[in-house]
Amino acid sequence: MGTIYLDHAATTPPLKKVSEAIKPYLSYEYGNPSSIYQMGRKARAAVEQARKDVAKLIGANPGEIVFTSGGTESDNLALIGTALSLREKGRHVITTAIEHHAVLESCRFLKRLGFEISLVGVDSSGIVDPDDIRKEIRKDTVIVSVMHANNEVGTIQPVAEIAKICRESEVCFHTDAVQTVGNINVDVRELGVDLLSISAHKFYGPKGIGALFIREGCSVERLIHGGEQERGLRAGTENVPGIVGLGVAAEAAAGELEERAEKIAALRDALVEGILSSITGSHLTGHETMRLPNNAHFCFEGVEGEAVCLHLDACGVCASTGSACSSEALEPSHVLLAMGFGRELAQGSVRFTLGRRNTEEEINYLIEILPPIIERLRAMSPGISYGSRACANGVCSKEIDR
Ligand SMILES: *Cc1c(COP(=O)(O)O)cnc(C)c1O
Repeated sequence: MGTIYLDHAATTPPLKKVSEAIKPYLSYEYGNPSSIYQMGRKARAAVEQARKDVAKLIGANPGEIVFTSGGTESDNLALIGTALSLREKGRHVITTAIEHHAVLESCRFLKRLGFEISLVGVDSSGIVDPDDIRKEIRKDTVIVSVMHANNEVGTIQPVAEIAKICRESEVCFHTDAVQTVGNINVDVRELGVDLLSISAHKFYGPKGIGALFIREGCSVERLIHGGEQERGLRAGTENVPGIVGLGVAAEAAAGELEERAEKIAALRDALVEGILSSITGSHLTGHETMRLPNNAHFCFEGVEGEAVCLHLDACGVCASTGSACSSEALEPSHVLLAMGFGRELAQGSVRFTLGRRNTEEEINYLIEILPPIIERLRAMSPGISYGSRACANGVCSKEIDR
């Protein structure tokens, strides 16, 4: 079976057609899109085709797509770019306690620049109440940012409702849709958003490339200064291979979105059912129905999520505790704390995020090996350095047999 990859919220394997499409642009198709001769024009055409494909995936106009280096830069450009552009109007920003660090740290930076930040909380399933946003909006509010779906617990927010409130108050609305674009249906007009962040490597594209949707008429200040690329909003020679890869991933997603999500959700449901029924003291976190089709996030009583993941790794299973960015910090997740989890239960969190290539066989294998891992860890006294001895301990002798 080989490695069982269940961490698609952290990153996804690039599609074969993505890798293939990129190749020429890493070798003989090396023209600069700004050059006027034929090789340059070919690169320009490839970039503009990708812009169309990305726009089509989210129901936007190509002219509303700005390519960036990924979800993080898109979030920075949306928050900081808008705040700087509208600083004469006011210095107040609203976001939520469960955002990705790319949004939270952008806000922290704005705070250092003199902006005031209001952090809205969530309920125990991770949902933001649109009324809580409405209550925070003031005359001097310049931007509201609420993520479309959370990267840890998978909760999908009532973004259309929140966007409507912002529109009525004439406040710019941004959503970090890095976890949803290419994975579930996302339409910028249906959602009614002004700004929306995209990252290619979260939907089978390459890393280091993303996009920001900027609705026509929104004013955003550039953060990267130099040439006039990307309508002056993002200077620097375009990442042509990355942009081509993003375009191909977007086109592929548009064609098989529903089929993918349906198949993945069925597997996810089997995984949730299998784990909850075989492990006592296990809790499914997040919302039951308003959640990403591929997300299964649990808190296990009496274990460290980190230790569970190390043991799973020894059995060839890739899963994570919290998000990829915070798992090194050993701090309980800010998302779980905001949802009201105690520190101890929050430490026992494990996230499985499925993808288009996962199989029933893989899920059955996981359901078989996880209960004894949890049991063993609970039996150990605290303070033991777990390392990755699961296989030596015989926990996954099945793995060795295979
Ligand atoms: C992964 C992720 C990001 C960061 O995207 P990068 O392309 O890795 O910079 C931002 N927001 C969310 C919700 C994410 O899951």
